[in-house]
Amino acid sequence: MAKQYDVIVIGAGPGGMASALYASRANLSVLLLDRGIYGGQMNNTAAIENYPGFSSVLGPDLAKDMYDGATQFGAEYAYGNVQGIEDQARLRSSPPILKLTKQRRLS
Ligand SMILES: Cc1cc2nc3c(=O)[nH]c(=O)nc-3n(C[C@H](O)[C@H](O)[C@H](O)COP(=O)(O)OP(=O)(O)OC[C@H]3O[C@@H](n4cnc5c(N)ncnc54)[C@H](O)[C@@H]3O)c2cc1C
Repeated sequence: MAKQYDVIVIGAGPGGMASALYASRANLSVLLLDRGIYGGQMNNTAAIENYPGFSSVLGPDLAKDMYDGATQFGAEYAYGNVQGIEDQARLRSSPPILKLTKQRRLS
């Protein structure tokens, strides 16, 4: 049987990583999925100069810091290109199923 999570976050940009951090810190089991490397659009920029706590930080460096924070309370990170979500709410006992092109555990 496929592993089930309380929360599956689609996209490991700043928004998704913050979501994974808060959900896992609330003792929920969390899977954070991204179809690329974590960081989202941060990976496309060199210097970020408007993030509180940093006078200037490289996008990929801030992405790594956010990733470390997002996973520190047990959130798992995996590659996954989400193609759709099958809502099984009408069955009551079954959680939604994610449709992925492929999924590979990175660590
Ligand atoms: C060149 C550039 C420079 C920037 N500079 C700054 C700056 O200096 N300061 C600033 O505040 N902001 C800056 N921004 C904007 C900032 O990067 C974005 O506002 C921020 O990244 C948005 O975060 P997000 O988590 O909402 O989305 P995103 O960063 O877009 O992350 C979304 C993530 O979801 C993933 N995803 C999407 N669809 C799927 C799917 N179907 N399955 C799996 N994964 C999926 C994507 O791969 C991506 O990693 C810049 C953006 C760019 C492009």
